[in-house]
Amino acid sequence: MRIVAVDMDLCEGHGKCYLTAPDLLRPQDDAGRAEFYADPIDPADTAAVRRADGTIAGCPERALTWAEV
Ligand code: SF4
Repeated sequence: MRIVAVDMDLCEGHGKCYLTAPDLLRPQDDAGRAEFYADPIDPADTAAVRRADGTIAGCPERALTWAEV
């Protein structure tokens, strides 16, 4: 299973990720930095993986990556 990991050193907190994928990410602090809070994603669920891939690619700071759990 996989989650979307947030690099807190890179996240600038402008919220593009949780505005476009509010079911996956949400703000976690006063700076608006993001956290993944959804259930882990099954790599076999191609629709969910594709959608998360788009969210990861959309982060202008490159703060989002896949992480195995
Ligand atoms: S889009 Fe990237 S930089 Fe912006 S809040 Fe989300 S993870 Fe942080």
